[in-house]
Amino acid sequence: MKGFGVIKTPKTGWIEKKKPSLKGNDAILRPIALAPCSSDTHSAHGGAGVKENLILGHEAVAEVVEVSSEIKRFKKGDVVVVPCVTPDWNEVGLQDRNINNAHDSSFMGSFKFLNSKDGSFAEFFHVNNADANLVHLPKNVTVDQALMTCDMMSTGFYGVENARVKFGDNVVVIGIGPVGLMAVAGAKLQGAGHIIGVGTRPNCVELAKKYGASEIINYKEGPVDEQVKELFPNGIDSVIIAGGNANSINQALRMVKPNGFISNVNYFDSKDTISFPTLEWGLGMGDISIVGGFCPGGAKRIERLLNMIANKRVDPSLLLNKSYDGFEKIEDAFNIMHEKPRDLIKPVVHI
Ligand code: NDP
Ligand code: ZN
Repeated sequence: MKGFGVIKTPKTGWIEKKKPSLKGNDAILRPIALAPCSSDTHSAHGGAGVKENLILGHEAVAEVVEVSSEIKRFKKGDVVVVPCVTPDWNEVGLQDRNINNAHDSSFMGSFKFLNSKDGSFAEFFHVNNADANLVHLPKNVTVDQALMTCDMMSTGFYGVENARVKFGDNVVVIGIGPVGLMAVAGAKLQGAGHIIGVGTRPNCVELAKKYGASEIINYKEGPVDEQVKELFPNGIDSVIIAGGNANSINQALRMVKPNGFISNVNYFDSKDTISFPTLEWGLGMGDISIVGGFCPGGAKRIERLLNMIANKRVDPSLLLNKSYDGFEKIEDAFNIMHEKPRDLIKPVVHI
């Protein structure tokens, strides 16, 4: 079968592989709708080390082609939403704190696609622990809406959860690409007061306002923390980092209040180093929490997000402003995600 991925970092292209087979407790799927992620392009070009002969793709709505005999909730022909994080629910490491990173020896161990196996940019792809990871597409949720729960909505909302946003909090969201836009929407749903979005692309700025941003800051017009401090001299309750660079952590420390939260979901480069003056972190005694989190997955997480969409709390499909038709268009969608023209928010491929 054919798939699109990394031939060898940084070269991407079409790869020929054997169709995946069932191993037990799993399913083989055929994609119906796919979206490339910034993490696909970042990884493909060496952001996390060298990758080779790996099919990319981890945001998918798909049709079930085959299930192993143990699978109870799904059968051939079902249309399903596939979380980008598919924990192995039999792993003991899952009982230790957080399912997303659960693995005794490596972080992001529950992120199978991209990390340890072929992804969904293929004619067929494999999903482990299908009963506990897949979700039926609800009748009143569109394919595009569901597709945006797999990673964008789950990650953006996790940024908000880790920022412990309370009613009336003032929140800065650094980066208003698709992930940050979902963080803006999530902060509004959590009852934030001011939500300050940081970014410049006009389509993203417009959508940030629609999702709930009360102010927008252009990071090209001066340090973000200084601009925020002009608006909020006493500081900010929480900063969610969904874009920018390693220096965004320093900026966040300079604008967050004592007792505040800095919640990162941005993908830093493996060659980056983060360092900051201790005074900016209250000499280590300011009760300022810094947490970096990874997209929660599994069926229950996705069911919750779909329930919010079904009840019209949020429409994540507004992120999709570039659409392609046909399997072979995966390459164009991946390339545009890499090039990021200024009018792009997020592309989708319908197959
Ligand atoms: P985008 O590239 O679409 O958006 C990045 C945003 O950051 C844009 O708004 C951009 O502004 C802004 N930005 C760029 N440079 C700066 C700067 N110096 N200071 C402040 N803001 C800046 O990315 P995505 O939304 O697709 O993804 C965001 C990040 O999340 C990526 O690193 C991605 O890999 C990661 N990710 C993490 C996941 C997780 O589980 N933790 C899951 C999925 C993605 P402008 O408008 O000018 O472009
Ligand atoms: Zn991703």
